[in-house]
Amino acid sequence: MVKKTSSKQGSETVPKPEPVVVASPTAPPKQSSAPAILPTTEAVSGALASLVEEVKQSAKTTPTPAAKTPLEPTVKPALSVVPVATASLEPAVKSAIPVIRAADTATDAVVKSQPAQPGSAPGKSARTRRNPVTPLAEVLPPPAVEVLPRPDAAAPCQSGVESGPESVPVPTAGVDVQPMTMPEPVSVSEPETGSPPVPGVSPLYIVHITPELAPVAKVGGLADVVYGLANEMEIRGNSVEVILPKYDCLRYDHIWGLCETYSDLWVPWYGGAIHCTVFFGFVHGRKCFFIEPHSGDNFFNRGCIYGFHDDVMRFAFFSRAAMEFLLKSGKNPAIIHCHDWQTALVPVFLFEIYKYLGMSHSRVCFTIHNFKHQGVTGGQILQATGLNRPEYYAHYDRLRDNHNPHAINLMKGGVVYSNFVTTVSPRHAFEAKDQGQGFGLEPTLHIHHVKFGGVVNGIDYNVWNPEIDHYIPARYTVDTLDGKYANKRALRERLMIADNEKPIVAFVGRLDPQKGLELLRHAIHYTLQRRGQFVLLGSSPDGQINNFFLGLKHQLNDNPDVHIEIGFNEELSHLIYAGADIMLVPSRFEPCGLTQLIAMKYGTIPVVREVGGLADTVFDKDFSHKPLHERNGYLFLDYDHSGLESALGRALSCYYDYPEHFRELIRNAMRHDFSWKNPGQDYLNIYDYVREK
Ligand code: ADP
Repeated sequence: MVKKTSSKQGSETVPKPEPVVVASPTAPPKQSSAPAILPTTEAVSGALASLVEEVKQSAKTTPTPAAKTPLEPTVKPALSVVPVATASLEPAVKSAIPVIRAADTATDAVVKSQPAQPGSAPGKSARTRRNPVTPLAEVLPPPAVEVLPRPDAAAPCQSGVESGPESVPVPTAGVDVQPMTMPEPVSVSEPETGSPPVPGVSPLYIVHITPELAPVAKVGGLADVVYGLANEMEIRGNSVEVILPKYDCLRYDHIWGLCETYSDLWVPWYGGAIHCTVFFGFVHGRKCFFIEPHSGDNFFNRGCIYGFHDDVMRFAFFSRAAMEFLLKSGKNPAIIHCHDWQTALVPVFLFEIYKYLGMSHSRVCFTIHNFKHQGVTGGQILQATGLNRPEYYAHYDRLRDNHNPHAINLMKGGVVYSNFVTTVSPRHAFEAKDQGQGFGLEPTLHIHHVKFGGVVNGIDYNVWNPEIDHYIPARYTVDTLDGKYANKRALRERLMIADNEKPIVAFVGRLDPQKGLELLRHAIHYTLQRRGQFVLLGSSPDGQINNFFLGLKHQLNDNPDVHIEIGFNEELSHLIYAGADIMLVPSRFEPCGLTQLIAMKYGTIPVVREVGGLADTVFDKDFSHKPLHERNGYLFLDYDHSGLESALGRALSCYYDYPEHFRELIRNAMRHDFSWKNPGQDYLNIYDYVREK
């Protein structure tokens, strides 16, 4: 293997501070005539050939504009198309959820159901080990369900049962939706440390049930979100706990005081029960419970978090175990917040089983971080988890997959049964429900639209903050920007790329087809052509994809301006955020995206595709309708090479030709508040809205 030389050709160009105004558009934004290319349901093969083919295809279906000059507009206004959740709601409902924006249109049908009979009282169903009681749901007659044409779109909630099974309390007009006392707006002087508790607002007991938590069990953004949101809620004076599996691959060096806390948990499974031990530990101050099952299935001792044929069973078991733990340990949280398909059965268990065993006080908020993976599986899952009435649960109004009548869809169950469903940006809520990006869940989202909204993720400024980041050699602020260039030099040294005047374009993320891999490949070559350097940090569970990028790494190994790192490396990612100039996020679809938010905090300019949360958080330097000081990056819409070049080209030109403009953009990006302060308040409003009053 040829070792790269580190050619020290010149010192870093640090744009000199001069008074400057970010350039305004010279022409109105060009409305793209092409529809956004929608993601395919299945993962695209990692082979380059197929990726190239995809782009060719997209070029056929998408009229490709001629290559654009840096000043030629290519983006269209984004946010104007995002409707406001409250637009079609009753006034009382409007007043109750003032801050949640969602895609919202008239619903086609109203599901009307009759009450299920709660038959058994708590305690009636005494469970013995290895012989758990028949779940109550099994002995109850299924509710009669009929789908009625919706009589009046302006009065969407007449029945109060539109959102699913009767036993699920839904925040519709059928529920007492009085104009509520919302928590006072919180003024925060230091967003980095979150918001102080609000006097007069009673604290909540919140439990997150999650497959991931940063930094101990992290695959992607979900882990960061749970950590950041839990932290923010705690800072606001609530009591927060997190339940997750006890993986053998947990980063135990980030867990303090790990100890056994509940040794005799028996979790119903296939008519018997599996013995579990529950551990407690602090993860950077977060109170965490780790569930360890003892069974031949060896659910969580496999060296990594996902990627196994029985993933659906593993996480269905975890969901049941978490609920059983809450019950047996006498916990009675006001809010259970669960995440993605892995924990989507939690509200089903709560409202079909545990509610009748005493947990009638808890309410569920379900956050969908990615619609692509829904936990679609066979009917066996019902039997395994004790949801023993297939004709009831496998009904279209509950867990039956919308496309395959023989399959069970866990995420759909989560949507139907939860009291509130969020996805991670308003734009993506609209895309998922109305733009075909719900991967088959669109009709379900329409039926349950009243309890569906988008909240943009925050980032934790105690973790992602160049002022205090211990993973980077030089700490800096918006007022001491030169520190950023010390990190740039450190990054080059670490990766053995040339120290010259060029800008560093970076990509950090999962190498998933969702992330726009073909455009990523093209961006590497394009950046090198345009006198830039490229750094890539990423990995994929798909060996073919990894091999493709390893091949590319090998091919470019002699080039002193590029480094490709295949693997997951949290520490290195911090240095990249701090040392790079431009962060590329060319996703096909992106529910929220954290990389662009983190990059901005580190003064690294995002170049992103105008989809999902990227469109909600990045405002184009040349074409945004935002005031100049709020513009913070570059956007492109068309998923093809010229689309990408239109934005990346402008960013590179600005770096070289208008360094002061580029520096101003850095300041704008760093000043933007993407902390948990605002999303934290949004979630508090949701919690307050759904909780038992
Ligand atoms: P997603 O949730 O789709 O993976 P996000 O942008 O929401 O994407 O979140 C990605 C998070 O994972 C960020 O914190 C990013 O820094 C981190 N990340 C992704 N891949 C890697 C990697 N290979 N090494 C280190 N961190 C990574």
